[in-house]
Amino acid sequence: MNEEINKLVALQELDSEISGFDRNVRDRKQELADREQSIADKEESIAQFKEKVTSLDQQKREAKAEHDDAQVKIKERQNKMMQVQTSREHQALLKEIEDSKRVIKEKEEYISLLEEQLKEIKGKISELQNLCKGEKEILAETTIQVDKEIKKILTDRQSVEGKRDKLSGDLRPNLLKRYNMILQKRGGAGIVKIIDGVCQGCFMTLPPQQFNEIRKGDKLNMCPTCNRMLYFKQEDQEEAYSA
Ligand SMILES: [Zn+2]
Repeated sequence: MNEEINKLVALQELDSEISGFDRNVRDRKQELADREQSIADKEESIAQFKEKVTSLDQQKREAKAEHDDAQVKIKERQNKMMQVQTSREHQALLKEIEDSKRVIKEKEEYISLLEEQLKEIKGKISELQNLCKGEKEILAETTIQVDKEIKKILTDRQSVEGKRDKLSGDLRPNLLKRYNMILQKRGGAGIVKIIDGVCQGCFMTLPPQQFNEIRKGDKLNMCPTCNRMLYFKQEDQEEAYSA
């Protein structure tokens, strides 16, 4: 294989390593973002449940007030009962007392229903609060760990970048420019290997004549489908068979 192709392959190895570092950093940051999102979602639910508690408390206060009013009303009617003269007035008061008793019963049932709901929601709130607390602790630990890992990855990346700069200097500027352009456009693969006559960038079979030419390795070829630079190594073929 010609020296230039060899250098491009070496450059590609460094670039793959660099994009591996970048992917790693992205994944680690994503992990933190996912943890933060999970906490934010729970806090959002807690806020919604708290609003619900406020509204149920309000309904409970109103029901309690109506309940107390009915009690007062019964007392008043009972006092009035002593003073009435006619049976009709007496009947009317009895009916009002009965109505108020019914209201009291209804309100009591309603209040106990509200209390059940409040108990359930408050239980959910405290469950979510506990989960949040635990997740925040894990997030804090993970953040420290991820920061450390990212620092290490970036140091390693810098050293590979250094090697890349050095190797880039050995290539013809035009060739380097072309390689860099393909690298950028084609998802981080500027030069790819051929296995069994197939481009490993786009997995299309190459025309036999072109394949034979690439196999000789004395001239740089491009894949007619994906435009990536191509190279052929005998050991890649053997690897493919043993795998
Ligand atoms: Zn291709």
